[in-house]
Amino acid sequence: MKDFQQIFGTEPETQASAPGRVNLLGEHTDYNDGFVLPTAIPQRTTVKLGFSKNAQHHFYSAELNQQVNISNNDPTPSGFASYIFGCIQLLQQEGYTIPPLNLHVTSQVPIGSGLSSSAALEVATLRGVRSLLNLDLDDVRIAQLGQQAEIQYAGVECGIMDQMASSLADTDHMLFLDTRTLERQVIAFPSGTEILVIDSGVPRTLAGSGYNQRRAECEEAARLLEVQALRDVSDPQAVEILPEPLKQRARHVITENNRVLEALQGVSAQRFGELMNASHASLRDDYEVSVTALDTLVAILQETPGVFGSRLTGAGFGGASVALVAFGQAKAIAQNVLKRYNDVGYTGRILVPASA
Ligand code: ADP
Ligand code: MG
Repeated sequence: MKDFQQIFGTEPETQASAPGRVNLLGEHTDYNDGFVLPTAIPQRTTVKLGFSKNAQHHFYSAELNQQVNISNNDPTPSGFASYIFGCIQLLQQEGYTIPPLNLHVTSQVPIGSGLSSSAALEVATLRGVRSLLNLDLDDVRIAQLGQQAEIQYAGVECGIMDQMASSLADTDHMLFLDTRTLERQVIAFPSGTEILVIDSGVPRTLAGSGYNQRRAECEEAARLLEVQALRDVSDPQAVEILPEPLKQRARHVITENNRVLEALQGVSAQRFGELMNASHASLRDDYEVSVTALDTLVAILQETPGVFGSRLTGAGFGGASVALVAFGQAKAIAQNVLKRYNDVGYTGRILVPASA
């Protein structure tokens, strides 16, 4: 892995970092103006910066061992450079003058596993440029600019959760976020618990098309219910007038929002686990974004002593599970679960705790 000095021949002027995130409750709610409950994970993305000696920006990713050279007037690049280029372009649109930069990225956040390496890259980049040029940007603005970079430049229609979690959450708390008003609240984990995230080993192949279809279904359901967004409905009975599958889709969003609001009141570890289990059932049966491997992994987790609850996390169609487990037991539980998962023909991988 080449460091900043090896790539650019000088020492960096400054550096900044931002964490990945995992969402504990509130899945597929953020594009319905709803409620989410993510936490930051220990793995971070670090961006080191200096001033370019020529007219181009130079972006280097150590994980990809790739360098992209680009000037402000060039068309948007593809791949990892699009996220960084997007952040810089949006800062210019805010009225800041951004000189050509040397920018070096390293990361421990698993890329493309649903732990939001993309938001970590955007937030770390924006924090790095803020530090280099002393820009007057607060953490919420950074999250919003990161989201816009992802939508407008990387071409991913994401909600605001990932960037808000990366910009504002820490690893010791959950961040309740109202994605409509951006009202937020830092809340404690149920006492005596920690987080376990296991990758199912199944890539999220259908994630893009499935995600867009679910978004469209939710918009249609909101239109038929005559509300601005599904967040404006709290009674699950209201969906009964909808045709299938809009009825099931809306029911997931409404019950999921209610689960987040219940957790926000401060519930026991056991109750929090029950809410996670109910979330998984709803994602599997009503929202239909699970796959057999994830159902298998989550079922094994739910049966394992020391696990309060578990569900798929992220958009679904593959990806990772998250579980709330007894404090200090995550690694031992993971070994046990991975063995049973392996016995039925799958290969999983521990993502959090990081060193497991
Ligand atoms: P996730 O955010 O769940 O990890 P995404 O598909 O949203 O998955 O984002 C992954 C993309 O973000 C990568 O394909 C790459 O373009 C970019 N990316 C994230 N981290 C890095 C990194 N350390 N180096 C280069 N590109 C990165
Ligand atoms: Mg992402």
